[in-house]
Amino acid sequence: MPQLDTTFSRLEDDELKDKRVQTNILKRFSLIWIVFSLACLGLGVYWYNTYTQSLENKLLAQEEAFVATTKNALQKEMKVQLTVLHMVSKSKVITDYMDHPTEQDSKNIATLFSNLTQAFQYYDQIRLFDLQGNELIRVDYDDDISTQANVSQLQNKSLRYYFEESLSLKPKEIYVSKMDLNVENGNIEIPYKPTLRFATQVLDKNGKPIAIVMLNYMANDLLENFRHQSKLRINGQGMIIDAQGYWLSNHDRSNEWGHSLGEPGKDFEQRYPLAWPAISANDSGLLKTRKGLFRYQNIEPLDFSAIETPELNTLTSQSFPVSESSIANTNWKLVIFLPNETIHENSLFYNPVWQLILCLLYFLSSLLIFLLISYSEQKKFRRKKHRRISVELHDLYENAPCGYHSLNDNGIITRINNTELKWLGYERDEVLGYSYKKFLTPASQAIFDKFLTTLINKQSIENAVLEIQTKSGKTFFASTSAVALLNKGNFALARASTFDISDRIQLEKRLEFLANTDVLTGISNRRHFFEQVEPLFETTHPKPLSLLMMDVDHFKKVNDNYGHDAGDVVLKHIASTISQHLKPDDIFARLGGEEFVVLSSMDREQSTLLAETVRKSIEQASICVTSTLTLKITLSIGLSTQLNHEADIDEMLKQADIALYQAKENGRNRVEVVE
Ligand code: GH3
Ligand code: MG
Ligand code: MG
Repeated sequence: MPQLDTTFSRLEDDELKDKRVQTNILKRFSLIWIVFSLACLGLGVYWYNTYTQSLENKLLAQEEAFVATTKNALQKEMKVQLTVLHMVSKSKVITDYMDHPTEQDSKNIATLFSNLTQAFQYYDQIRLFDLQGNELIRVDYDDDISTQANVSQLQNKSLRYYFEESLSLKPKEIYVSKMDLNVENGNIEIPYKPTLRFATQVLDKNGKPIAIVMLNYMANDLLENFRHQSKLRINGQGMIIDAQGYWLSNHDRSNEWGHSLGEPGKDFEQRYPLAWPAISANDSGLLKTRKGLFRYQNIEPLDFSAIETPELNTLTSQSFPVSESSIANTNWKLVIFLPNETIHENSLFYNPVWQLILCLLYFLSSLLIFLLISYSEQKKFRRKKHRRISVELHDLYENAPCGYHSLNDNGIITRINNTELKWLGYERDEVLGYSYKKFLTPASQAIFDKFLTTLINKQSIENAVLEIQTKSGKTFFASTSAVALLNKGNFALARASTFDISDRIQLEKRLEFLANTDVLTGISNRRHFFEQVEPLFETTHPKPLSLLMMDVDHFKKVNDNYGHDAGDVVLKHIASTISQHLKPDDIFARLGGEEFVVLSSMDREQSTLLAETVRKSIEQASICVTSTLTLKITLSIGLSTQLNHEADIDEMLKQADIALYQAKENGRNRVEVVE
């Protein structure tokens, strides 16, 4: 059975396959996990970029508003100074004073200057110069006190750059200096006083310059306010740099005023060398560097086109022409630096809780993938296994060493396996739908009816022997067992298994033959004789019975004279000779030694005739023992006759024995009948 061998070896392989499933799970998981991880990475990078971009945009939106308001505020502040300067330069008292200097005008001018310092509180000095650079009137403002400088304190500033610049102004032009730290007597004043100088010429009626008015504007409050607003309103670091990249304001105050302090390395370029080229070259923009994000914007403090100042709206920017150098001097830039750290602080990607959540999500997703793969692989394996098992079961069913068939309650075959089909020699469609009886010998058909009744009543039956008739006409015995399958308590189907028991039956027959047969002569032995005759005495219908008891005469001499083997030959010859005169119904046996018996359903006359015939044929025969030895032998026969219900076998044997004894007594080789 090669198919079965394969089946078993497959079953043994199952353990190995379990291991293979695990390897498959790991392989598939590794592959999918790598793809999943790459997808996560891709998505993560995309998400990180878009998120960071939108975060930067959000942060920048705040910075953008700050840029606009700062620019606006600075422009307004500058415009105020230009307005004040313009008004002062136009004041009649100054032109009068320059025309005819009087003590009163001088006082009035000083009072005007004083009032302005007191009103605005950020003018360090307001001065009136003549065109030679001499301070004519000067009011100093310090610690909330305005003081007019006395004559001895007045100085000549003709060589100072701001005076030179002021002197070279075109009429009505205004000069605005760079913002730098105020220097007093050659030393930088401490605390630092960031100062802007605003100057313009005073013109006479003919438009000729006659004097110069100069405001020293202290930018402390302006810058302090800028720093304060930066801290309040933006996430990044707000700073103002001049055209050379020196800080007028920096969140780190120690970086400020590099130029004024004579520290040329303390500038934007040194600090942010990669950002500087772009920021210095462009008016405004956004720059991304490795350190962070820069938003920069030219402030253009002297360009008032963009601001609307209701209280000053009668004056337009055209009223305040400024010198070219003024524009260069105030070429400031507002820079907001958003360091990566600041962006990260606001980013969920750098938040430990979110990092933990993302890691957990990734881990849980990986775990879920593993579980799903594991589940699907095992399901696949189970499905394959079930399919294989069902193929194997089908194979087992079809090709089992025994027959299988299913019957309905009428004994109709509804299913049958290949093995039984081969036994029967029919095609499947010649069997299915037909009664099982069709394939049984007539004797077994009756047995099958009982078989079916028992099965329906008891739901099972075991080892019923049925003789099966094949298509070719051959018959064989089969042992059939069956169980009923019930549907709602009622018989639905029977599943039967059938074994070919021809060999067993043959063996049984052989054993029976051996048990019943006399080994030497091949006729029935004593035991079988009694077994056979018994039923004859049980019938009630009267029937004559005759018993012939036969004994070889002087047989001992044969043994003694010619040997035991010769005696055996003689016994076989006698058995064979007697058999030839008997009818099929006659019961013939060797009772033991050299005694034979025949029970026949004959009356006295017929049986006497038979006994005489047998005696004669033995007497007449020459028994050829060997090629050189031929023997003659005779038989004595005792005969008893009865009707079957008159006596039993023992009685008949006894009677016949008496008759035999008489035959021996009367000379042997004769038949005696019991009277
Ligand atoms: P009688 O005429 O009175 O019957 O004399 P007999 O010699 O035949 O009688 P007996 O009963 O004394 O002898 C029977 C002999 O048969 C004795 C025994 O050795 C012999 N014998 C019994 N069974 C067998 C056998 O199976 N084979 C042979 N060769 N001899 C047997
Ligand atoms: Mg004897
Ligand atoms: Mg004898």
